[in-house]
Amino acid sequence: MTNPKALLDHFGVIPKKSLGQNFLHDPQALEKIADAAELMPEDTVLEIGPGTGALTEVLAKRVQRVIAVELDRRLEPIMRLTLAPYGNVEVVFDDILNVNIPELIGDQPYVVVANVPYYITSAILRLLLELPHAPRRIVLTVQLEVAERIIAKPGAMSLLSVSAQFYAKPKIVTRFNKAVFYPRPDVDSAVARLDVYDRPQVDVPNADVFFRVVKAGFGQKRKQLKNAIAEGLHMEHDEAAILLEAAGIDPKRRAETLSLPEWAAITRHYHASVQST
Ligand code: SAM
Repeated sequence: MTNPKALLDHFGVIPKKSLGQNFLHDPQALEKIADAAELMPEDTVLEIGPGTGALTEVLAKRVQRVIAVELDRRLEPIMRLTLAPYGNVEVVFDDILNVNIPELIGDQPYVVVANVPYYITSAILRLLLELPHAPRRIVLTVQLEVAERIIAKPGAMSLLSVSAQFYAKPKIVTRFNKAVFYPRPDVDSAVARLDVYDRPQVDVPNADVFFRVVKAGFGQKRKQLKNAIAEGLHMEHDEAAILLEAAGIDPKRRAETLSLPEWAAITRHYHASVQST
């Protein structure tokens, strides 16, 4: 691996904070990320944000095919150099949020490995997890606080944790000190691994209604659930209280305290009430 700072200096590329460009320069950290992905030689990996290609190299040695999507074209000459020995790597220069992933990947199973800016973490997770052909596993290097939000338990849940845990079993695999990055970010990071379920683990009529209910619940921060649900789902407050009680939920609770089975119970009752009107 060539040191990212040396490569960036040589090619006159100044890292952009706006693109979350903190590059990993610790070979052990790169190996830990690849280990977390538990890759098989026949695997295809979709890498998001390859940067200078340091992690891409480690992945390319372990699997059959790596497709790397990078937004910043300034990194092209660097990757042309670092990835030249790897015939199994394709680099696509585009915004991951605009790419047609099914077209890129095809039908085969795949694993996503991403070291992405925190501000697109939720959008990327939603995009990947909602795909009809979702990845088998996602390994995300994100700021520690975001990783902790992904694995949060009732009491500290958010839309991010409910979305992630609806589709996958997440865990934090390892933590990284700021020092493993160049330039150093302001905060520590963690590697989160999400093993994607074949089907959601809670029983709901469909994912759209589930997320309509959950978004309504989290729509009004620090409000009692009854009020948030009433406003988010456009119903009377009394009606929202009846819905919650029917689902066995105290209407005075707050969204962050609910478990996934509790959100699913509200969804089933809401869906049944909408169907019957
Ligand atoms: N993987 C490299 C590493 O570990 O050293 C670089 C990681 S750096 C934290 C994030 C990378 O994501 C940068 O190369 C940045 O340009 C890229 N990036 C940022 N937004 C992106 C987007 N919307 N689509 C694709 N890549 C993006």
